[in-house]
Amino acid sequence: MRRYSAFAIAREAARHHLGWERAWRSPTPKAQYDVVIVGAGGHGLATAYYLGKNHGIRNVAVIEKGWLGGGNTGRNTTIIRSNYLQDPSAAIYEKARSLYETLSQDLNYNIMFSPRGVMMLAQTEHEIRGYRRTAHANALQGVATEFIGPAKVKELCPIINIKGPRYPVLGALWQARAGTARHDAVAWGYARACSDMGMDIIQQTEVTGVRREGGRVTGVETTKGFIGCSKLGIVVAGHSGVMAERAGFRLPIESVALQALVSEPIKPVMDVVVMANTVHGYMSQSDKGEMVIGGGADGYNNYTQRGSFHHVEETVRALVETFPIISRLKMLRWWGGIVDMTGDRSPIISKTPVDGIFVNCGWGTGGFKAIPGSGWAMAELMAKGHSPLAAEFGMDRFREGRFIDESVAAGVAH
Ligand SMILES: Cc1cc2nc3c(=O)[nH]c(=O)nc-3n(C[C@H](O)[C@H](O)[C@H](O)COP(=O)(O)OP(=O)(O)OC[C@H]3O[C@@H](n4cnc5c(N)ncnc54)[C@H](O)[C@@H]3O)c2cc1C
Repeated sequence: MRRYSAFAIAREAARHHLGWERAWRSPTPKAQYDVVIVGAGGHGLATAYYLGKNHGIRNVAVIEKGWLGGGNTGRNTTIIRSNYLQDPSAAIYEKARSLYETLSQDLNYNIMFSPRGVMMLAQTEHEIRGYRRTAHANALQGVATEFIGPAKVKELCPIINIKGPRYPVLGALWQARAGTARHDAVAWGYARACSDMGMDIIQQTEVTGVRREGGRVTGVETTKGFIGCSKLGIVVAGHSGVMAERAGFRLPIESVALQALVSEPIKPVMDVVVMANTVHGYMSQSDKGEMVIGGGADGYNNYTQRGSFHHVEETVRALVETFPIISRLKMLRWWGGIVDMTGDRSPIISKTPVDGIFVNCGWGTGGFKAIPGSGWAMAELMAKGHSPLAAEFGMDRFREGRFIDESVAAGVAH
C-alpha cells in the first residue's frame, strides 16, 4: 500500500487524482483462517491489527454484517479520557489514550486526535468528594488529572454558566491530555492497515452460527457459507448476547439504545469537552462547528438503534441550564447505537467456556476511548492465552464477585 503523505497529495494533484488505491480490499472469503474476528467495529479491527503487528498473526478475517465502522464506532460522541477510579480500568484506558497520541503516525492515517482536555463538572458536595478521590487514585496510577475550582472551569470554558439555576458548578475533574478523535477515521485507519497486512475484511456478511467439535471451535456459519478457523474473537458490542448464544454460552450483559445529537454548525465557542453528570448531559464542538451532545441510555433493553423524544428533551434541558448560549440552536440530527452493558460497567475481555473462542464486549457507553488498548489486550490474549491488561476483565468475575465497579466513572456515560 502506498503511504499517504504531502508528496502523495502533490503527486496525485498533478495527475488528476487518478492514482489513489482503494483503502482496503473487498476479498472473497477463504475456506480457512487462523483467526476469525466477528465485528468490524473499532475493537474488532484493532484486535486484528495488533494480532498482525505485535504477534505476526496475519491469516486473519474480520467479518462484518453491515459496513465497517457502521455500529457504535461510527455513532459515538468520540470522547477519549482515562480518568477512571479502579486500577485495572485506569491501566487499560490510559494505555489506549497513550496509543491514541501517536495513532495517526502508526497507521499512516489522520485520525484527528485532538487532546483538547476533558472536564467532568462537580455540581454537588458528593461529586466533589468523588472526583477528589479519583484525582488521588489517578496520581497513584500515573494518570495526569487534577481537581480544579470553579474559576478555572470558567477560564477554560467561558460559555459555561457557573451559577446554574438548579446546581452551581463547584469544580471539576480535569484531564488536560484527554479529548476527541474522528471516529470513522479510527475504523478506516485500522481497516486500511489490516488490509495492507494481507488480512481479509469481509463486509455485508453476517455470522449466523458457530461450529464446534469436541468443545473446540472449528469455524463459523455465515451468509456467505462456512468459514473455518482455529480461533474466534467475538467483538460485536450490542449483539454480544446474541452471538454468545450462537456459540453456546451466556454472557452477563444487557443491550440498550444510547443516543446522541448534533446542532447546526456555529463558529468556535468551546475548545474543551464538558461532561455534567448531575444534570446529565455533555457537549463538545466538532471541527465542522456542530455542538456534539450526548444523551442518556434507554431504561429498558432493546435493539432499536434510534433516538427517542424524551431523551432529547431531558438532555437539551440539562445543557441549556449549563450553557445558556445554546438555547436558540437548531438540532441537526440525532441517532442511537446499541450498547452492551455489564453490571459493574466494566468490559469483558476473556476466554470463554468454548476452547478457542474469545470475547471482547461490555464497553457499554464508553468504549470508543478504549479501542487501541482493548485491541492490544485482546490480541495478546488470543495470541498468548494471557494478557496483563486484560487479566482482571475475565467473564468469571461476575460468578466470583470480583467486580470492577466503574459506575461513577461511567457517570453520564462516556
Ligand atoms: C450515542 C453513543 C455515544 C457514545 N459516546 C462515546 C464517547 O463519547 N466515548 C467513548 O469512549 N465511547 C462512546 N460510546 C461507546 C462506543 O461507541 C462503543 O463502546 C464502541 O464504539 C464499541 O465498539 P465495538 O467495536 O465494540 O462495537 P461496534 O462499533 O458496534 O462494532 C460491532 C460490529 O459488529 C457487527 N456485528 C454484530 N453482529 C454481527 C454478526 N452476527 N455478524 C457479523 N457482524 C456482526 C456490527 O454490525 C458492528 O459493526 C458511545 C456510544 C453511543 C451509541
